[in-house]
Amino acid sequence: MPFSLDTTYKTLDPELYEKATPKHIDNPEMLLRNDALCDDLGLDTEKLSSRILTGQERSEEPIAQAYAGHQYGSFTLLGDGRAMLLGEHVHGGDRYDIQLKGSGRTPYSGRGDGNATVSSMLREYLYSWAMQHLNVKTSRSLAVVETDEAVTRRQTEPGAILVRVMNSHIRYGTFQYVASQAPDELPRFTDYVIDRHYPQLHERKRPYLAFFDAVMQSSIEMVVDWLRVGFVHGVMNTDNMSIDGETFDYGPCAFVNYFDEEAVFSSIDKHGRYAFGNQRSILQWNLARFAEALQPLCAHSALTVDELEATLTEFPDRFDSQYYAMMRKKLGIDTDGKRELVDELLAWLQKTNADYTNTFLKLEAPETVDDPVFATAEFEQLRETLAAVGLDAELMQDVNPRYIPRNYLVEEALDEYLEAGDLSTFKTLLTVLETPYVSQRVDSRFQQPPPRAFDAAYTTYCNT
Ligand code: AMP
Ligand code: MG
Repeated sequence: MPFSLDTTYKTLDPELYEKATPKHIDNPEMLLRNDALCDDLGLDTEKLSSRILTGQERSEEPIAQAYAGHQYGSFTLLGDGRAMLLGEHVHGGDRYDIQLKGSGRTPYSGRGDGNATVSSMLREYLYSWAMQHLNVKTSRSLAVVETDEAVTRRQTEPGAILVRVMNSHIRYGTFQYVASQAPDELPRFTDYVIDRHYPQLHERKRPYLAFFDAVMQSSIEMVVDWLRVGFVHGVMNTDNMSIDGETFDYGPCAFVNYFDEEAVFSSIDKHGRYAFGNQRSILQWNLARFAEALQPLCAHSALTVDELEATLTEFPDRFDSQYYAMMRKKLGIDTDGKRELVDELLAWLQKTNADYTNTFLKLEAPETVDDPVFATAEFEQLRETLAAVGLDAELMQDVNPRYIPRNYLVEEALDEYLEAGDLSTFKTLLTVLETPYVSQRVDSRFQQPPPRAFDAAYTTYCNT
């Protein structure tokens, strides 16, 4: 077995998981394997067959994890309905969840079929790859394996399994599950999570309070990074919020091209709850739900509800100071303050709907971007004001990507696979997105936003 699996999650209360068996697949076909990730995990690629990657051959009994979550504001009991934890792979002192997505039904599937379409698993592979190389903390995709089964969503296409790697799949929603179903288990579960993700906190006088603070911090860092690169997660339900600040669950996500605080791509997000510019306030709301889920700890420790609330009260200041520090870097400003300049630029972006990514490139290296939206006296004035205090290209280079997954290029690449079985365009896109901060000799399309009408109509889906 190439994985060295040791599933500590199974030492927890049995209410937290169920056994699950990956579905039988006759001819699993490896479409993509992430060899760099195999290397990071110390995995021998020769031995990583598609049968092992789909759980057809396994050394451990896989499990589906239970969790709960606020989905669009409503509390629901959930669990891995089409995912299974193959086990925890240990390498170099680190522990990684190896999870299969699309591997068949589990006790939590409800009416779902447990399957995933190949286009949605390729899409997740691509977005997680892009995010990783944009230096945003994220789940990573080890492989996409096509199955011989047809899966019907909006259209019928082959099924596939994605092999997903995370530090863990523990979510705010896992705490909500424990708090609602087995509150007496919460101290032991929280200690487990602290051990696994924040072991240094055991030294602290008030580990549970420090834990809440640390989760808030890693989540702020994650969302600030999303705003840095223009990412819209699309479904920030509390069950999709990782306890370790890893971006995950790439369903109805997309990148903003034409800047708009209200940008929404998800087919079901009719009221813009998870719009680009709402992600800060939704994170705050989710953290409040997480703090509620920690309340049963108060009966078992010195933790108090007032302390949790006091930490939550710090959210706006802490988020904003990290957000503005990030935005100053994007503008190449190395001094503190200057929030008004950031706000001025944001107002200009919102008014003109200029391409978010290219705006920063235009400021950093004007000759590389050609778009009439920047040919105005107002933008020139803004650029001059900024140049007086910043535009330090060295600061800007590492935070302003040249390449993001442009929605239309992603769709073209997926269509080419579905229509012609050809992954070459998809793989070219992966190559470009591997070094997003470096100018490459590639077609200028990789840097161009799609036609405005395309972006305005662009729709992404959950559970496909
Ligand atoms: P998501 O919105 O993708 O986070 O999914 C919400 C819940 O729906 C999770 O518990 C999933 O496991 C479950 N789910 C989504 N698609 C399916 C499916 N095809 N079969 C079974 N469960 C599913
Ligand atoms: Mg989910």
